Amino acid sequence: MNSSNLKKLNCVIQHARKSPFYKQRLPTQPLTTIQELKDIPLTTKEDLRQHSPNGLRCVPNEDLYQYHESSGTTGNPVSSWFTKEDVYHNAKQIASCGIQFHDKDIVLIRFPYALSAAAHMIHEAVQLKGACVIPASGRTTSTPFTKIVDLMKKLDVTVLSCLSLQTIMIAETAEILGLNPKDDFPHLRAICTAGETLSPARRQLIQEIWGIPVYEFYGMTEIGTSMIDCKYQNAHVLDDDFIVEILDDSLTEDVQPNEFGHLVITTLKKDATPMIRYHTGDRARLRDDTCLCGRKQMIEIRGRSDDTLLIDHKKIDIWDIEEIISYLPCRRFWRAGVDQQKLKIIIEKEQETDHVSPTFQCLLEAKFDIPMQIELVPTGTIYNREKLISNGLNTKPKYFYSGDELNVR
Ligand SMILES: [Zn+2]
Repeated sequence: MNSSNLKKLNCVIQHARKSPFYKQRLPTQPLTTIQELKDIPLTTKEDLRQHSPNGLRCVPNEDLYQYHESSGTTGNPVSSWFTKEDVYHNAKQIASCGIQFHDKDIVLIRFPYALSAAAHMIHEAVQLKGACVIPASGRTTSTPFTKIVDLMKKLDVTVLSCLSLQTIMIAETAEILGLNPKDDFPHLRAICTAGETLSPARRQLIQEIWGIPVYEFYGMTEIGTSMIDCKYQNAHVLDDDFIVEILDDSLTEDVQPNEFGHLVITTLKKDATPMIRYHTGDRARLRDDTCLCGRKQMIEIRGRSDDTLLIDHKKIDIWDIEEIISYLPCRRFWRAGVDQQKLKIIIEKEQETDHVSPTFQCLLEAKFDIPMQIELVPTGTIYNREKLISNGLNTKPKYFYSGDELNVR
């Protein structure tokens, strides 16, 4: 970290002490070295739950501009406040991403607009670049998948912005309606995804389906967007605005360079509710490797620490499973779990003739050194296609199931 960031960090620590939550937790004196950051306790999601909605607020009402909540399924929701400058600045950063929004773009935003931040931040970023937004929120009955396909087609949408799983569902819907995603949307030039881990294999799959590049944003409602893909589709930390730490399992030390660990983020430029050492719950690594864009470091986000399966003392995550799936004839919709000490992957067939021979499965087991059982099931088993085109489908991504759940049809 450079000295200007240490200065910014000391400013944000002093500012954060205006909130009831951070007042007692943060030092009164400026840090003299970056190592002293490690003496400050981590801020956890549970802390945020307990102190929402106002415990982390550092500005008076007249400075507030926007309110968001994270969409957890259990417990008290987590509040995040933004000043006008917080929103504008984060949007400006998003606008600088490799997708290069411009004034001729028509961008369909499919993230939910209700309470979570992603849709609003991308919306603002797109408009900063003079482009036109179609606010086609997810998780609402107003915009079923068929409507999305219709809007994309008739309005000559140039950029689609949504969860990565949704890009596949939209493609699937288009195909059911007799369209070819690759050929029948000639104006579509890029997809930007956020909100769930995007494995290299899934990025590849989406690019094959749509025939256009996929760019990823990483952020969360609590902190805003903190990492964006450059035009070479490598993710970089917005390091003027965020300090990133990658900690080992003890959560006290940094991992070795280039290793995966627990992602902890400090915001340097979020006035309303700054976050100091926020334990995101995601696993990531900083890779020392010069990108074609000139930056010296890239970041890879591997998904939630909780979203891992333990098989033979090995941790298996979504990246691993989607890499295995990349060798199969069908790759779109899957679920996985541990069943009888094996990795069980259930995956929908794309063609009636799709199959995986026992020999091929053995080869995969040997290659990945994991006992596994791969079961191909008919189209529609995991996601009911009638519901897909009638908006009756719960499309919140969920991939991992218990062995018993996996065996229910
Ligand atoms: Zn780059």
